[in-house]
Amino acid sequence: MTTTSASGTPDWAALADSVSAPTDLLIGGAWRGGSARMPVVSPIDGRVVSEVAVGGAAEIDAAVAAARASFEDRRWAGMSPMDRKDVLIRWANLAMEHADDLAVLHALEMGKPAREARAVDMRAVYRTLRWYGEACDKVLDEMPKVADDAWAMIEREPAGVVGAITPWNFPLTIAAWKIAPALAVGCSMVLKPAENSPLSALYLAQLGLEAGLPEGVLNVVNGTGAEAGHALASHGDVDVLTFTGSTATGRAVVAASAASNLKRTWLELGGKGANVVFPDADLDKAATMVAWSIFYNAGQMCSAGSRLIVHESVKDVIVDAVLRIAERTQPDNPLAADAPMGAIVSSRQLDSIHGIVTEGLRDSGTLLTGGSPVRVDSGGSYYPPTIVDDVRPDSMLAQREIFGPVLAVSTFTDE
Ligand code: ADP
Repeated sequence: MTTTSASGTPDWAALADSVSAPTDLLIGGAWRGGSARMPVVSPIDGRVVSEVAVGGAAEIDAAVAAARASFEDRRWAGMSPMDRKDVLIRWANLAMEHADDLAVLHALEMGKPAREARAVDMRAVYRTLRWYGEACDKVLDEMPKVADDAWAMIEREPAGVVGAITPWNFPLTIAAWKIAPALAVGCSMVLKPAENSPLSALYLAQLGLEAGLPEGVLNVVNGTGAEAGHALASHGDVDVLTFTGSTATGRAVVAASAASNLKRTWLELGGKGANVVFPDADLDKAATMVAWSIFYNAGQMCSAGSRLIVHESVKDVIVDAVLRIAERTQPDNPLAADAPMGAIVSSRQLDSIHGIVTEGLRDSGTLLTGGSPVRVDSGGSYYPPTIVDDVRPDSMLAQREIFGPVLAVSTFTDE
């Protein structure tokens, strides 16, 4: 049960101590151990919050077999669309009932403020499950009359067994984007969550069983990318693979698909987005959006606005405004009621961000704020909003995806 403070918001720290998520693999409707166990280290303070079972090729094999069996006997695909809809909507409602638990698991495993996970990620999970739930009995086959004496028939079929590999930056939002549509049309699935953020996915899967997902329709195998991820991407009996992650891993996943059964593979990869600001913009609004698009989720987003390309006549105004926002967006404990920014997912990611900033500054740019880890005594991983001015467009900071709260500023004089 959630402890609530006088202000009506949950006491996230108390909830973090009491929340409990499954730690085994979900295969064929049963929870089972894997080939090893792996610690889940919280970036809040470096503490091990849980040990989860890890699967390798054997567990992926078992999960794919369970998914295949559940698909072939049509225990899910053969259910009426209305019944599938009921399950997905029940699942959405359960996710909302347990949204505080799921939000605090986000904070514990990947460091985003629990308040933000509750408000943004859980809303996305709820809406995604509901939207696709509703689509089950509305987006159906069609029989359009194409001439006076002819009808065409469009029959939609589930693809079969879907493998899903997800990243840690939006552990459940992205999982829901993959799970909900695949299940809505009757596919069976194997989900491989990111090794940093397995707990929220396991918890959500448990709620799926409670909502009435038949055994074997959704299987969850934690594990490393190199073993479990690769085994799923190269499995000969997976029909479709959906992947969100880094561009380098995307290449590996496509290669694994090509080397195995040429499964249809869908990728959502990295980015290096730019906000371009012209002098006639509403400068206050522009500065707010520039800051939000790189500081939100500590910049750990493929869609982050990691470059600011600003007309030289308004650069000082915009940069000053973004600096002021940076000042009040300093990272804090993600369990605090009002943390404006949380932790970086792991010490490895923190080192990667700091390494790129340090090396990048040798190449080009002037550091205006940030630039080294903060809250070091916490034992966790925290990086402050960092702004680098006068970055040459062909230099490292303008070209490399950093996946942290680091903004590279360059100017232009005409279109
Ligand atoms: P990051 O480096 O930020 O963790 P990745 O793209 O490596 O980003 O990770 C995204 C997901 O891809 C994670 O679930 C990870 O375990 C998985 N993954 C990593 N390497 C591979 C691989 N070779 N094959 C399949 N999946 C992988």
